[in-house]
Amino acid sequence: MTDTLTPVLTDNWDAERAWTLAAYEERGGYAALDKAFAMTPDDVIDAVKESGLRGRGGAGFPTGMKWGFIPQDNPKPKYLVVNADESEPGTCKDIPLMMASPHTLVEGVILSSYAIRAHTAFIYVRGEVLHVIRRLQRAVQEAYLAGHLGTNIHGSGYDLDLIVHAGAGAYICGEETALLEGLEGRRGQPRLRPPFPAVAGLYASPTVINNVESIASVPSIIANGPSWFAQMGTEKSQGFGIFSLSGHVANPGQYEAPLGITLRQLIDLAGGMREGHELKFWTPGGSSTPLLTPEHLDVPLDFESVGAAGSMLGTRALQLFDETTCVVRAVLRWTEFYKHESCGKCTPCREGTWWLTQTLARLEKGQGSESDLDLLLDQCDNILGRSFCALGDGATSPISSSIQHFRDEYLAHLTHGGCPFDPVASTAFA
Ligand code: NAD
Ligand code: SF4
Repeated sequence: MTDTLTPVLTDNWDAERAWTLAAYEERGGYAALDKAFAMTPDDVIDAVKESGLRGRGGAGFPTGMKWGFIPQDNPKPKYLVVNADESEPGTCKDIPLMMASPHTLVEGVILSSYAIRAHTAFIYVRGEVLHVIRRLQRAVQEAYLAGHLGTNIHGSGYDLDLIVHAGAGAYICGEETALLEGLEGRRGQPRLRPPFPAVAGLYASPTVINNVESIASVPSIIANGPSWFAQMGTEKSQGFGIFSLSGHVANPGQYEAPLGITLRQLIDLAGGMREGHELKFWTPGGSSTPLLTPEHLDVPLDFESVGAAGSMLGTRALQLFDETTCVVRAVLRWTEFYKHESCGKCTPCREGTWWLTQTLARLEKGQGSESDLDLLLDQCDNILGRSFCALGDGATSPISSSIQHFRDEYLAHLTHGGCPFDPVASTAFA
């Protein structure tokens, strides 16, 4: 079973002081730069297109195609921005990647910036993770001193400056246009799209924004060739990715595997569910992707198959919950998060997430009525597709999917006059 793992990004995570430049160079790090500098920037874009790499931040937009949108006839400077504001509940792949191997990201930044002809790049990291910020800053400093960053990199004539920028801890700043607002020094709230950042992004200039894992995948694609990457995964979801298993599993952690692996295989690799317990529900890509159940254990974890199963691959944040978990309480907890993180710009999300928590909290205490379920779905209906950005839509996913799969459990709260999983609040155990 272990041969289903494809450790590339995670390969050196256990190596001694893997994060240092010396350790990275010893493993062939920064060698892809010379290969890329012998190619034209357009050839690098074509290689990434050919590899089939799709955005690893959740949406799965083809990375090479996004780079190809940068208008090269536009005289304005081009920018590359790495979205390292990882905050989706359950998502925990970019932070360990940056801690264990910051130079993989730095090398990816240089290759990607060269491809889109940017001479300034930013890594936007969420402000709470000071240890990650320090590690990245140190790696960037090392890269400058070694001639991997700065002017005339490796004697190629190509110049690049890389700035590590700390955000201020708002979930919405992971939304790419809110991130740009934050980077420009304003309050983080989403901008209207289009124009997409590729046309008018940072300082209204053409800007590529990619997730950490997407950019960190580029060195291996350039070093090994696009067909090496494309042969892994499925026909439309190529390559490998980091799957983060958390919750009631024996060995939680990051498992790097080809897209298309199933949750059943991943749970086997992780030593099974915790002893004596069974899977009840799970998220494929964080809490803003609709919940799935054990009947979906054999769904290939690729963009198409998870979509066909009624959810989204998202960030591959696989949160696993066993039969001891109250789904209503879990959904209430996530909804409180979205209410707290709503930036307030648009009414459906600002007001709607507040109403969702009110209705859910009533149900969770067993104080509502059956009609509250229809009320909840109606509230979701008024948010989904009517919000300014994906946060509002995402907030409805756990609610509508949990009512679809666990309607009886919602009703049990009403019958028992409280949570049937809570022996104190519930009359079921009286
Ligand atoms: P999106 O599909 O709207 O866009 C994806 C990317 O493609 C963006 O960079 C966008 O600029 C680009 N794009 C799309 N159409 C384009 C066009 N016509 N021209 C040029 N560029 C174009 O998705 P999104 O709203 O950016 O992101 C939503 C995703 O974010 C969700 O799927 C969710 O899984 C994920 N997410 C991730 C985290 C995290 O912590 N990593 C947190 C919350 C949400
Ligand atoms: Fe802000 Fe929510 Fe509207 Fe997005 S959907 S703009 S987070 S209020």
